[in-house]
Amino acid sequence: MSLLVVGSVAFDSVKTPFGEVEEVLGGSATYFSTAASYFTEVSLVAVVGEDFPEEHLDFLVGRGINIDGIERSAGRTFRWKGEYSYQLNEAKTLDTQLNVFESFHPNLPESYRKVPVVFLANIDPNLQLEVLEQVEKPKLVACDTMNFWIEGQLDTLIKTLASVDILIINDGEARELAQEVNLVKAAKKIMAYGPGILVVKQGEYGALMFNGETIFSAPAFPLEQVFDPTGAGDSFAGGFMGYLSTCNKIDDVAIRQAVVYGSTMASFNVEAFSLDRMRALKQEEIKSRFQAFKALTTFESI
Ligand code: AMP
Repeated sequence: MSLLVVGSVAFDSVKTPFGEVEEVLGGSATYFSTAASYFTEVSLVAVVGEDFPEEHLDFLVGRGINIDGIERSAGRTFRWKGEYSYQLNEAKTLDTQLNVFESFHPNLPESYRKVPVVFLANIDPNLQLEVLEQVEKPKLVACDTMNFWIEGQLDTLIKTLASVDILIINDGEARELAQEVNLVKAAKKIMAYGPGILVVKQGEYGALMFNGETIFSAPAFPLEQVFDPTGAGDSFAGGFMGYLSTCNKIDDVAIRQAVVYGSTMASFNVEAFSLDRMRALKQEEIKSRFQAFKALTTFESI
């Protein structure tokens, strides 16, 4: 099944304890669609400004991503600036410039409207809703968000969640959204807004998946080198949703495998700045790390 994503396509400036980059390719939809493109066909909806170079669009097209839904508008591309301390789990946002996203209203190309799987990547919940209004009865809708929108657009976000099957957010965002410190209690509160499945990303501690009463836990892959966590969440979501799009049956088995594929894609992404590691990734590497996850977590019962 093919997959539609709406989200940010951005210039990121990022500082980690291991280096610094200025205005490199980033954005939630960019990371998501690149990761998902290793599994399925992806159609991207976003807006870029006049300053966005063709070479970045060529990269997406080179990954087989349909960019008919990327609009080029007068103005500057979305920009995000963030910093990580040695505690790499959470970015400190230094600057967010919405720029062309401020006046953007998605108008989906005809070919996008019947896509069966939709991912609303981190972006203004008003735009997420506008996309949902234009797609025809998708089989599966998943969504991401962040503190910027939880704090600024809570009512619209809650409205969006009512139409969402799966929510994928990090632990800090889950606590903030639910106004509840305990993650199990927070999960119950959030699922009452709509999503039957909740995936809580916990950075280097892995991910927790709540599916009704069932909880599944996957670790993050123990890496020797973590260079830049930016985009880990979106790469997770891309691997997770990309894999689910290939499944005939979306049951608990498939969702658990999807969590591990998500963790696999996120683990590659953090090994380099921007999308540099995912640019050079091979299918055999994805398969072999997925197997390594199984070896990492398997044990005999007594
Ligand atoms: P993450 O996967 O959570 O590390 O997401 C990182 C990406 O999110 C960066 O490439 C940013 O460009 C993008 N981003 C940061 N803030 C926002 C925002 N308010 N809306 C949409 N995208 C954002």
